[in-house]
Amino acid sequence: MGKKTTHKFKAEVSQLLDILVHSLYTNKEIFLRELVSNASDALEKVRFKSTSEGSEDTVTPEIRISANEEAGTVTITDTGVGMTREELMRNIGTIAHSGTAELTRMAKEGKESLDSLIGRFGVGFYSVYMVADEVTVTTRSIEEDAKPVKWISDGKNDYKLQELEEDVARGTTIEVKLTEEMKSRFANEAALKNIIKKHSNFINFPIYVGEEKVNTVTALWREPKFQIKDEQYAEFYKFLTYDSEDPFDTLHTSVDAPVQFNALMFIPKTDEDPFGMGRENRGLDLYVRRVLIEKQNKDLLPEYLGFVKGVVDTEDLPLNISRETLQDNVLIRKISSTLVKQVLGHLEKMAKDNAERYDEFWHSHGTIFKAGYMDFLNKDKFSSLVRFNSSAKDDAKGLTSFTDYISRAKEGQKEIYYAYGPSREALGLSPYLEVFRRKGIEVLYLYEPIDEFVMDAVRDVDGFTLVSAEHADMAKLDQFESLEKEEKPEALSDDQQTTLDKLMARIKETLGDAVTEVKSSKRLSNSPVCLANPDGNVTSSMDKIMRVVSK
Ligand code: ADP
Ligand code: MG
Repeated sequence: MGKKTTHKFKAEVSQLLDILVHSLYTNKEIFLRELVSNASDALEKVRFKSTSEGSEDTVTPEIRISANEEAGTVTITDTGVGMTREELMRNIGTIAHSGTAELTRMAKEGKESLDSLIGRFGVGFYSVYMVADEVTVTTRSIEEDAKPVKWISDGKNDYKLQELEEDVARGTTIEVKLTEEMKSRFANEAALKNIIKKHSNFINFPIYVGEEKVNTVTALWREPKFQIKDEQYAEFYKFLTYDSEDPFDTLHTSVDAPVQFNALMFIPKTDEDPFGMGRENRGLDLYVRRVLIEKQNKDLLPEYLGFVKGVVDTEDLPLNISRETLQDNVLIRKISSTLVKQVLGHLEKMAKDNAERYDEFWHSHGTIFKAGYMDFLNKDKFSSLVRFNSSAKDDAKGLTSFTDYISRAKEGQKEIYYAYGPSREALGLSPYLEVFRRKGIEVLYLYEPIDEFVMDAVRDVDGFTLVSAEHADMAKLDQFESLEKEEKPEALSDDQQTTLDKLMARIKETLGDAVTEVKSSKRLSNSPVCLANPDGNVTSSMDKIMRVVSK
């Protein structure tokens, strides 16, 4: 036996462990999901390595789980890549899961309950200390001549490491010594089987509890659609995303040309990104002939479709493709453009068949989706899919498309008017919109900064030009009758006109260079004055955005 050394946990890890050990979180069974997911990752690494090197691995890939009721232990063994001493130190004890710091910070802030934090972050290896007094990891790396190593810790302050002299099979064994309280719950194989079925059923490698294989091991996305039940889709979705709810929508497709691929995609019910980690936590898992090449690949779908979760599996890529070259791979680009068309087409169909359902989708994912204004190739589809609140709706939740707006436009109207403001209430009082209210002309209400970029990119829809209400051409608006009979102001007498001119001159004098011009007009009915933009200038809200950006 090599000599034992003791190492302190990194501070960040200690903090997380402290939170987990003292957690009152009841759903402690997820520790098994996390250990099995690590075992599966280790097996995927072997498969990826041997396929990309063109070598054949002689070890059967599998995960075995057993329980010892008397001893109160659960043991998980995999035949994956294993870890060298250095990897063990680096991966367990030093660097925590990428979301750990964030999770710890949020748990301390106490805004979000630990329950939902643990569920959403997937806290990885350390979650085992919710149920364990002590954990022993015995592992031998796939690297040539790697010495087996043992790691032991009670999850308090430090861990012990020891190199082993005896022969150990390649892979990793994790022995979990359950706390007194958890023994009855987890030290029995029937319970473990249920947990595996619930959380790990779609792991790509066989999982045995005792002698019995418990998971299904089918690539659901390769099965014919008509054979799959909704419950299976939902189960797979939950496995994939850790979401506790069913998906909002499922899109399962199989394509043969111009490239062959199968895709199984889901739209979650709610925005999965309450922590603003969305940019990282997006992407489809890419498989080549059932071999996982990359989790959450970022090239298959653009950022604005980041709410779509799922997997893509293709026959057409070589297995030995390196992750680095995926980005500028022609086939990936072809798959991507097909996927984008499928997702957009699917959304168009939803919008057409069931507008209420589409609105529901929009309320959850519309904000991300609006970033699609940059996708010029799909501009028409994008324009048909964006929604805005508008003055024609009863409240701030109401949504309209450009097409619906056009259907309500006045005869002779060739513009779609919009205005940006902090809220529906504020816009309802805006002096710029008085003339529109008076004449009953619909105005789209924009509440988010990105909305104006959308308007700039879309520019026109079916012969209608998008025009900011601030820039509205009064001559064009004059052609429309007011809803209520206006009391036509009498023509000004010469005297009155002179007084008014003097007032304008005086205001201009006082304001100086702050304004270009001061004019009297018939635009307003209730407000005495408003700021207007000389034609062609940016809207006042865009101006604010640009000032912030250029600072
Ligand atoms: P994550 O899986 O998100 O990386 P974990 O805390 O679950 O975070 O695991 C930390 C790291 O420990 C893994 O990335 C992996 O390198 C290593 N690891 C954990 N379990 C195993 C295992 N069974 N075989 C090989 N490596 C493992
Ligand atoms: Mg993990």
